Amino acid sequence: MAELVRLPASAHAELLELLGPEGLVTDAQVVASHLVDWTGRFRGTGPAVLRPRDTAEVAGVVAVCRRHGVAVVPQGGNTGLVGGSVPHEGEVVLSLRRLAAIEPVAERSRQITVGAGAVLAVVQAATRRHALDVPVDLGARDSATVGGMVATNAGGLQVLRHGSMRRHLKGIEAVLGDGSTISHLGGLDKDNTGYDLAGLLCGSEGTLGVITAVRLGLVSRPSHRVTALVAFASAAGAVDAVATWRRSLPDLEAAELFTGDGVGLVCRTGGARDPFERRHPWYVLVDVAGPHDPSDDLAAAVSSIDDVLDVAVATDEPRRAALWALREEHTPAINTLGAPHKLDVTLPLDALAAFLVDVPRTVAEAAPAATTWLFGHVGDGNVHVNVVGVAPDDERVDEAVLRHVADLGGSISAEHGIGVAKRRWLHLNRSEAELHAFRAIRSALDPDHILNPAVLV
Ligand SMILES: Cc1cc2nc3c(=O)[nH]c(=O)nc-3n(C[C@H](O)[C@H](O)[C@H](O)COP(=O)(O)OP(=O)(O)OC[C@H]3O[C@@H](n4cnc5c(N)ncnc54)[C@H](O)[C@@H]3O)c2cc1C
Repeated sequence: MAELVRLPASAHAELLELLGPEGLVTDAQVVASHLVDWTGRFRGTGPAVLRPRDTAEVAGVVAVCRRHGVAVVPQGGNTGLVGGSVPHEGEVVLSLRRLAAIEPVAERSRQITVGAGAVLAVVQAATRRHALDVPVDLGARDSATVGGMVATNAGGLQVLRHGSMRRHLKGIEAVLGDGSTISHLGGLDKDNTGYDLAGLLCGSEGTLGVITAVRLGLVSRPSHRVTALVAFASAAGAVDAVATWRRSLPDLEAAELFTGDGVGLVCRTGGARDPFERRHPWYVLVDVAGPHDPSDDLAAAVSSIDDVLDVAVATDEPRRAALWALREEHTPAINTLGAPHKLDVTLPLDALAAFLVDVPRTVAEAAPAATTWLFGHVGDGNVHVNVVGVAPDDERVDEAVLRHVADLGGSISAEHGIGVAKRRWLHLNRSEAELHAFRAIRSALDPDHILNPAVLV
């Protein structure tokens, strides 16, 4: 394994020659902005940010870094929430943001090829001109890159309808840790020619290769969309209602859960407004979208549930956005309380309601001064347990919550990945044989262990 070192003078000279002064950034202030993660919990050190312009320059960077034993952290939009996008051991940051080319939409196959550094919102704007959409959407859309979304196998707001990134990956181009470039961007829907390298790199969190371009499948953009905010007295009522709607509403696209305390927080800290006169304990925000106006179907589905306390419906864009702000402002609002421990987990649906009630107690037992904020993609059993009031390196809460999740048969990472935040607990979900296979794959593709050495295994 390569010795981790600061950028040696000879590596600096070779990188400067390869990338030019715009591509090798050592200005301390600029570098510092790449060393802290979105939550502020993970802060690293590193000598430089490398900004290649194309795949050949990425390959050049990997070759130079291998030769000099310099470890590399690939970084896209730096919106990852498990500390995987920032250096921890003095690695250089390899920013992919300049690989942002977007090719024309292939209308017949409904696909698009984009550079890894293309920002999701920009790709969405390009595809929506053709009444097509990227099937994965998330609150970080204005910063997250497609390469980062593939590297984390991002999930997001529409997983219950469309699934996560891996499902839509039609091809990939990447520079592997061994320095070789693979490019398989033909976009054939059927292509059984051996190992699925795109699928393997998806979710690898920058540990096997640096993704440089992605071929994505697109979905039709529904012409009609209705949003409803529905209030419940209990977590069980909310979870049961979503399970019913998944059966009765074929056009259900999103079902997001949050609490009355969370609504109070986002209204206090941001511009969001509670549409109800009184605050309720639990809320579910649903989006239903299809080729015809789904309002009547949604109204019938909501009124079929006895547990509903209140409902607000929005059909036009400004009102829909106002309801969605109540959900999407959770992440920034929680950040105003201090650097959170973000524990993104999935529970089996039968265990979900009890977990939502129990987990604040689990947190309080581990850290009595901490506060817990819950929200998540309830249709998938995915809860984001956010804990504030705990020192960044105090892992007692992480330990208690992740063990609680594993004891219930859940996953310690639903969609954010493992990064450095959950590496210690990966064994709760993965057997020794699986971890052995992980290490073998990693050693084969990145024999010098220069890619994201602090992450995953
Ligand atoms: C407000 C907010 C809302 C969010 N909502 C969701 C959500 O609903 N669902 C969800 O899944 N996530 C969500 N996230 C987390 C985050 O947006 C995703 O993990 C996203 O996929 C990260 O993309 P990025 O470009 O910012 O990657 P980064 O944060 O830069 O990197 C993430 C990981 O991928 C690696 N990586 C990045 N680019 C490459 C590349 N080109 N090649 C190889 N490795 C690479 C990094 O090394 C790191 O390990 C949210 C984050 C925020 C701040």
